Amino acid sequence: MASRKLLLLPGDGIGPEAMAEVKKLIAVMNDKFGAGFETEEGLAGGCAYDAHGQAISEADMAKALAADAVLFGAVGGPKWDSVPYEVRPEAGLLRLRKEMQLFANLRPAICYPALAASSSLKQDVIEGLDILIVRELTGGVYFGEPKEIIDLGNGQKRGIDTQIYDTFEIERISGVAFELARTRKNHVTSMEKRNVMKSGVLWNEVVTQTHKAKYSDVKLDHMLADAGGMQLVRWPKQFDVIVTDNLFGDMLSDIAAMLTGSIGMLPSASLGAPDARTGSRKALYEPVHGSAPDIAGKGIANPIAMIASFAMCLRYSFNMVAEADRLEAAIASVLDEGYRTKDIMSEGCIEIGTTMMGDKLVEKFQSLLA
Ligand code: NAD
Repeated sequence: MASRKLLLLPGDGIGPEAMAEVKKLIAVMNDKFGAGFETEEGLAGGCAYDAHGQAISEADMAKALAADAVLFGAVGGPKWDSVPYEVRPEAGLLRLRKEMQLFANLRPAICYPALAASSSLKQDVIEGLDILIVRELTGGVYFGEPKEIIDLGNGQKRGIDTQIYDTFEIERISGVAFELARTRKNHVTSMEKRNVMKSGVLWNEVVTQTHKAKYSDVKLDHMLADAGGMQLVRWPKQFDVIVTDNLFGDMLSDIAAMLTGSIGMLPSASLGAPDARTGSRKALYEPVHGSAPDIAGKGIANPIAMIASFAMCLRYSFNMVAEADRLEAAIASVLDEGYRTKDIMSEGCIEIGTTMMGDKLVEKFQSLLA
């Protein structure tokens, strides 16, 4: 039996509630289908601060680096609003991203047919939507130096952030986008601001060169990032894979995500570079939502974002494509049958809680896999 090492970091608020539903799936996959997942659990976020005075302990960080994949719930909440900045709950997630060198953030925006009517856009614009935003996650203006506020001494201050990209960073993120496009509709749209930013000029050049050198079978388009934002809400189905930098990706992926409805539905993956020897990548999978303190402990959180993140883990870390497809089909099917958590509830549907939604998905997944 293959051994697949998973570290679970449920975190705070609704994180543990959503993770509990993934644990049911893992148990079924191990018991009934011999999947061979070995799971360990650790603390990240506010719960880690309470236990160790750190947003993630050295021991849990080491476990994350040794795992084949990390499943992350959500962190934060008002209880930790006044803890020192360096040990705030989010610092745990940022440290994981940095030390695992997770430079590629993948955010799919899929519109499940059963939820098409609940989007803020017209049904025909988003029905059947399936796009993937690939965002560079470890470079650009969020990390570039100098990054400071200086006192100009005349009653004025100056805030400085620096947008920096090196060739290798653009090559590796566009490589991820082209590889993924080959498994989808074979189309990449690269977005930057080459009309006003030097980093945009280089981005455009390097993506074009990478395409020419290794991926000329994939269709490549370039678009200015502001026009891309507009096109995303005008006719999002024109896109397959969008590749963009850290700053534009932050905004464009939020826009794309919200085309499809509730934040409780949105998964994400963050991937590192493939290991030269084994080809496997470090990876962390997490829902896009936060710890939702307003509903934590009430048993009403939507576990689908967490479960869909596990589907991405099956697909990208373990190459379990059939299982990932079936888990995504199980989500669509349970929604088709009219089951809804409170956040996606609509007239004529059946409202159920977190545990029941998890049970329905496990049951459907088993029936599709049997
Ligand atoms: P949030 O995503 O936690 O919640 C926003 C709204 O969406 C809330 O009304 C919440 O009830 C609802 N919601 C979120 N997930 C849901 C789900 N699965 N099912 C049903 N409803 C859901 O964002 P926020 O309120 O801005 O932040 C709350 C805390 O989470 C803060 O401490 C913030 O820093 C933290 N946060 C953490 C992450 C992370 O761990 N990656 C991401 C964003 C926010």
